[in-house]
Amino acid sequence: MFDEHAVRHRLKLVSDTGAAVLYENRDDVACPVCGEVFDEFYATNAAESFRPDRRVGFCVAHTDERLLLFTHVVASIES
Ligand SMILES: [Zn+2]
Repeated sequence: MFDEHAVRHRLKLVSDTGAAVLYENRDDVACPVCGEVFDEFYATNAAESFRPDRRVGFCVAHTDERLLLFTHVVASIES
C-alpha cells in the first residue's frame, strides 16, 4: 500500500487543514493504484469536498482511516 511517509520528501505540501492534506507531486512519484505518475495527492479522514480547478482523472485508495485520492491531469481533449 501507498506509504506517504516513504515518499514525503518527494512531495510538496500544498495545504493541510488538520483533517485533510494536499500534496503536489514534484518528483514523479508513481500512483499506487495505476502505476502512472500522479499530479496531486489528497488524503482526508473527514467528509470534505474536493474541487479540482482543472480537468483531472482520479485514482482512489483507502487506508483504515483515510481516503486517498491521486489526481492525474487529463490531456486536454476539446469537445
Ligand atoms: Zn492513478
